[in-house]
Amino acid sequence: VQERKLIVQIIPFENRRQILVTHDATESERIDMMRRDFIANASHELRTPLTVINGFLEIALAQPNLDTAVRTSHLKLMTEQGQRMQNLIGDMLTLTRLESVDYPLRSERVHVRPLLEGILEEAKALSAGKHTITLEADGPDLQGNVDELRSAFSNLVSNAVRYTPQDGAIKLYWERKQGGGAQFVVKDNGIGISQEHISRLTERFYRVDKSRSRETQGTGLGLAIVRHVLLRHRATLGVESIPDKGSTFTVCFPANLLIEEFVPVESA
Ligand code: ADP
Repeated sequence: VQERKLIVQIIPFENRRQILVTHDATESERIDMMRRDFIANASHELRTPLTVINGFLEIALAQPNLDTAVRTSHLKLMTEQGQRMQNLIGDMLTLTRLESVDYPLRSERVHVRPLLEGILEEAKALSAGKHTITLEADGPDLQGNVDELRSAFSNLVSNAVRYTPQDGAIKLYWERKQGGGAQFVVKDNGIGISQEHISRLTERFYRVDKSRSRETQGTGLGLAIVRHVLLRHRATLGVESIPDKGSTFTVCFPANLLIEEFVPVESA
């Protein structure tokens, strides 16, 4: 429990001293600290690829007659690092927009089937044939923002691919909830997450294993984006995971966001 800190001003009034509580600093200090942390983390994340790119540029300037094969491999590495910076900046902009209080949710009918089929194709491309990825059932259509939901689903599915070793299986399916809601489930049999990390996964830049996340082009912002999209839709995220066995991420939509009746398949 954090100690509360109130900002007080002493104001002279008709020869008496009055104490006026102007505002509670606890919350604003917390927000300030989060902002400072975010900037420090983001700067660090951007500096790393930039250092690599600058290093190769210096080599290229100092050794203009480098072997073509070596030069090509340097260019490839620079392109990868450039892509990493681009992903990071893209995710930072997305997150900042989603967090902004005056960015309204533009809600419309979201056609779930084509949305998930597109995400399945992207996941297969990312997996490059290393995993079995299945979409087992059609979901209901949803009331929400298609771009935001695409980004949330796509982050969960790409994480399942990135944190599941070769030959693993990833299943995407829908389940009906008691009380009329429905949930979209992303289940993998990958590396899993130990219990102590689970409550912190949606924090910005929180990673269980930084080097693995970087190797697989992670920005550390994916689940923070998922959390914000779901908050804006009043949907919730559930995580169950066992190290070395796999993880199940569940997005639960309340009944008022579902547009169409659907028939769920029996899924494990
Ligand atoms: P990143 O870009 O690092 O993947 P995310 O915010 O998407 O960032 O996820 C945060 C961390 O949660 C990851 O670094 C990883 O350690 C863990 N994680 C997310 N999804 C999975 C998963 N399906 N299996 C195992 N670990 C996961």
